[in-house]
Amino acid sequence: MPAGTTVPGWSAQVAIVGGGPAGLMAAEALLDAGASVDVYDAMPTLGRKFLLAGKGGLNLTHSEPLDAFISRYGSRSSDVARWLQVLGPQALREWAQSLGVTTFVGTSGRVFPSEMKAAPLLRAWLHRLRGRGLRVHARHRWSGELAREMPTDAAGDAGWLLGFEVAGAHMQVRCDAVVLALGGGSWPQLGSDGAWWPVLASLGVALAPLRPANCGFDVGWSPWMVSHHAGAPIKPVRLMFDGDGGGRFDRPGEFVVTATGIEGSLVYAVAARLRDQIERAGSATIVLDLVPGMDEQTLATRLARGRGARSWTNHLREHAGVSGVKAALLRERLDAPVIGQMLAQAPAELARQMKAWPLTLRAPRPVAEAISTAGGVMLEGLDDGLMLRGLPGVFCAGEMLDWEAPTGGYLLTACMASGRVAGQGLAAWWQHRAALRATMAR
Ligand SMILES: Cc1cc2nc3c(=O)[nH]c(=O)nc-3n(C[C@H](O)[C@H](O)[C@H](O)COP(=O)(O)OP(=O)(O)OC[C@H]3O[C@@H](n4cnc5c(N)ncnc54)[C@H](O)[C@@H]3O)c2cc1C
Repeated sequence: MPAGTTVPGWSAQVAIVGGGPAGLMAAEALLDAGASVDVYDAMPTLGRKFLLAGKGGLNLTHSEPLDAFISRYGSRSSDVARWLQVLGPQALREWAQSLGVTTFVGTSGRVFPSEMKAAPLLRAWLHRLRGRGLRVHARHRWSGELAREMPTDAAGDAGWLLGFEVAGAHMQVRCDAVVLALGGGSWPQLGSDGAWWPVLASLGVALAPLRPANCGFDVGWSPWMVSHHAGAPIKPVRLMFDGDGGGRFDRPGEFVVTATGIEGSLVYAVAARLRDQIERAGSATIVLDLVPGMDEQTLATRLARGRGARSWTNHLREHAGVSGVKAALLRERLDAPVIGQMLAQAPAELARQMKAWPLTLRAPRPVAEAISTAGGVMLEGLDDGLMLRGLPGVFCAGEMLDWEAPTGGYLLTACMASGRVAGQGLAAWWQHRAALRATMAR
């Protein structure tokens, strides 16, 4: 059903649990269809993770060709492609424009609001939604209670009873249909804590385990590395990985050394493969080119120049541009005297190692620290309108669904597209029920 089509005879009361971008997009689609919509959220205000994303400029979507865009969703590409037909990257930009927020394409092809902030967009969106009749209930934490009413008519129509914790008390809400848009399990302090997982599992919903996506990894640094270089960026660098037989990942960029390992956009880009490899094999080894601006032969020639009385650190800084955290990285595996010896006796070998420096990753960081979450409600258990096949009238949307994508605007785009699909799916489902009731009444 296209957005803006009012369902004849609409009288359903819809409860949306979760006021992030997916839930709000579902709300918008339902309001467009003429539904009566209440959004419930555990937090004092809506869209907290969306606002946090705004701190990084709010990468709303990406401008690359649609085929390439769709491929970012990996094994879920064909499912997400259907959602993007309803709200694709260009349509999302037009939607933002309809809220008075212009967007621009950054040098990497990523799309941002001109103001590089989420707050003006969220403010304008909530203002528009409230103007269309949306009722917002903040500080309402869904307790996990989701019970079917007894059918009251021959068509078998029954509503749902939802339980909420509100200011320490229990409250029950009745509605005709539900959209769950509870987010993943990352950054639980912003509201989405994955607590819905065991609840839905107990209701028989098919779920994939929640796993970190776009996450950092543990390395196990020396105390020196942690105390002197945690927080330091490794740049420029080239990161390579093909240890899982999934094709060669080879990309320039940068990442940050953390107290436990590494994180950052270059790492996130290959994080799903690294995570899967660690699950399979116990560790994953990436290969770093620490001197990406110089070919190996040139580097070897420069390292071979006479060092005189200079320290090896000064020699590397001067002739290879390697210092600070990069030099510390060499020290993680090679003792200082060994580096000095290699400079004197085997500069070509040192150059070879600096162009292909192995770094073994031991574990992904926990979901709570990740940018996003993989796993969740399996798409096989949902119909095309994102209704749970086993719980008619209960729809799901957003990051709580089992798909994942790298950073680059792919997360928000799919969350919002799935929200619109769920909202429109619910409207179409209700219209179908209404038609059935009318037939039975004749
Ligand atoms: C630091 C950071 C930066 C990011 N930057 C970007 C970016 O630039 N571009 C991009 O595409 N993506 C980005 N993301 C990811 C993106 O923000 C999320 O994928 C997106 O917000 C998920 O939307 P959602 O509506 O599915 O869930 P959420 O935004 O997580 O919203 C879920 C809502 O459900 C509520 N909720 C959860 N449980 C309950 C309950 N029991 N009762 C009531 N309410 C509940 C929560 O309070 C929350 O408001 C970023 C994420 C992080 C952490």
